[in-house]
Amino acid sequence: MAKIFCIANQKGGVGKTTTALNLAAALAQKKRRVLFVDLDPQGNGTTGAGFDKGDLPASVYELLIGAKFFDEVVQKAEAGFDVLPSNRELAGAEVELVGMKDRDARLRVVLDAVRDRYDYILIDCPPSLSMMTMNALCAADGVVIPMQCEYFALEGLTDLVGSVRRVHAEKNKSLRIITLLRVMFDPRITLQQQVSEQLIKHFGDKVFETIIPRNVRLAEAPSYGKPGVVYDRSSKGAKAYLACADELISRMEGKRA
Ligand code: ATP
Ligand code: MG
Repeated sequence: MAKIFCIANQKGGVGKTTTALNLAAALAQKKRRVLFVDLDPQGNGTTGAGFDKGDLPASVYELLIGAKFFDEVVQKAEAGFDVLPSNRELAGAEVELVGMKDRDARLRVVLDAVRDRYDYILIDCPPSLSMMTMNALCAADGVVIPMQCEYFALEGLTDLVGSVRRVHAEKNKSLRIITLLRVMFDPRITLQQQVSEQLIKHFGDKVFETIIPRNVRLAEAPSYGKPGVVYDRSSKGAKAYLACADELISRMEGKRA
């Protein structure tokens, strides 16, 4: 049965998609069966996995509104994982779902039906606490929060942690541990070190030991339609995401990858 994680942070450009894609590819390289769900109308994860978001036969949008079946939408990425792709159409789902019963649970229903096909399902969220993010939180067992260790980072966390608590209390009892992942980290910057220390003080071992450095190869990779761990496996960024996947596996499966 797959463990389902959503990669969320309502702040934009903090590394959610990069984290989701690279973890998906790293877990696939470690022989885990992975499904990557792009729940962001920007479709960056879809592009980064090698698909043309302007020319999709079907997207996660049709799946959420019940117009298509899973097998009609799912695609295989070259990097070795399955993808539920997305594009701008998904923005329409927000409107269409408003009137629907259990609108927050649409994704959960979709994923529950395919859970036994995968070991890990990773959901890439948009930069908001929108209905899509609510769907992700209702479907997930855990939230992975990528964050840059900057001054306002902790402030933004309060809202997200509040939403996670609310969803846990009202809708999804299995939503648990928040994993904080420090990304785009530059150890030369004193402020980043200070914020990092504060994070550990507040969140203890929920903060992943692995730190993702700022690395240009990770930023270049999406334009080649590949996650960084495939594009340049020996880069510092790729090695960090591979180590991050190891840490996730050892925390989840209680063993080394
Ligand atoms: P959005 O909120 O718009 O969905 P996001 O949180 O998904 O953004 P990304 O798209 O993953 O963030 O990253 C934002 C930008 O930073 C991208 O150009 C990405 O290539 C770059 N980036 C992400 N992680 C790193 C890193 N560790 N080193 C260098 N560049 C990075
Ligand atoms: Mg993104």
